[in-house]
Amino acid sequence: MKNNYNIYEAPARINLIGEHIDYNGGMVMPAAISLRTRAKFKLRDDLKIILDSENTDLHVERDLNDLGYDKKYDWANYPVGVIYTLIQKGYKIDKGFEIIFDSNIPLGSGLSSSASILVLTCYALNSEFNLGINNKDIALISQEIEVKYCGLSCGIMDEAIIALGKKNHAILLDCAKFDYQYIPIDFKNYTIAVLQTNKKRALTESNYNQRVQECNKALNILKPKYNINNLCELKSTELDNIKALINDDVIYRRVKHVICENERVYAFKDALINNDLVKLGKLLNESHESLKNDYETSGIHLDTIVKASQEFKDCLGARMTGAGFGGCAIALVKKSSFDEFKKIVEAKYYEKTGINALIYLVDISDGPKKVI
Ligand code: ADP
Ligand code: MG
Repeated sequence: MKNNYNIYEAPARINLIGEHIDYNGGMVMPAAISLRTRAKFKLRDDLKIILDSENTDLHVERDLNDLGYDKKYDWANYPVGVIYTLIQKGYKIDKGFEIIFDSNIPLGSGLSSSASILVLTCYALNSEFNLGINNKDIALISQEIEVKYCGLSCGIMDEAIIALGKKNHAILLDCAKFDYQYIPIDFKNYTIAVLQTNKKRALTESNYNQRVQECNKALNILKPKYNINNLCELKSTELDNIKALINDDVIYRRVKHVICENERVYAFKDALINNDLVKLGKLLNESHESLKNDYETSGIHLDTIVKASQEFKDCLGARMTGAGFGGCAIALVKKSSFDEFKKIVEAKYYEKTGINALIYLVDISDGPKKVI
């Protein structure tokens, strides 16, 4: 049988370090990974948009002339948001199509399946309708959709790394300027493991948006004194003064995390260049500690899996990755000890939480591509 679908793929991502930094205009270091969303795409002769996903049961049909957001369309708002926004921006999409998604990324687990489906849809439409958009602009448009159409006040990190990912490289990304450089990743005889807690995230969006608001509140207090546009322009040497100015323990701890985490990203880059694996592990641990105690985006499940990892003899460090409140963590583990690590950490996690975690290795991969 003739297969008349074109097939496209976009990766998931991990963030090595720099968590909850992107919307504070600082530095982050994400990498694309070998989990992916796939889209089968076929043009139609009418104006119908037919959307399916192997990951959900909800089949959605829309019309090219009527693509506004509607809660009832649930997941399909992500790809529909892309079509809607591209048309709003004046790109010519004048034919309907069928698109079938299928993802091996755990949805809602902090590996950014949402940015993956957005970037993938934008990349596929760019290719199918010859829109001439480069990957950097695909990232910007996709992020704008997640914020304006889907309603999550996220920064540029997820869409940027998914659109711009490169095999065996992370990017050091300046989220305020959207400048980036590729950083080769070579952990020698160590590797990055993904630790999936399988804890359903609860109230993630409202907690996430709350953190964004807390940071904005801090920025408004600190702006007149420091003449800054972003919290990440501040230095940790100023923390005592900042504490006095803010005069609110919760807001101060949020700022402390942001400033120190941003500095950890630079330290992580230096440690990568110097092949200082022990330092990399230490920075991962410090990042988790800060997210747990100061930014409060971790939780019992992430803390349990991270602690079990940190206790393992051949693990140099571990931390939550992504927005938090459940989801995934990462750990830097000796390659030859991975099987033992997986067995021990999964057992300890089950004993404490009664949930089966999933621990696996991923490769650091390229951004979106047309498969056939
Ligand atoms: P994360 O980005 O960490 O995976 P989000 O809550 O931001 O978590 O995004 C998950 C949502 O994205 C899903 O609930 C679903 O609405 C949508 N989504 C992502 N990938 C797919 C897919 N392959 N099929 C259907 N929906 C998807
Ligand atoms: Mg997401």
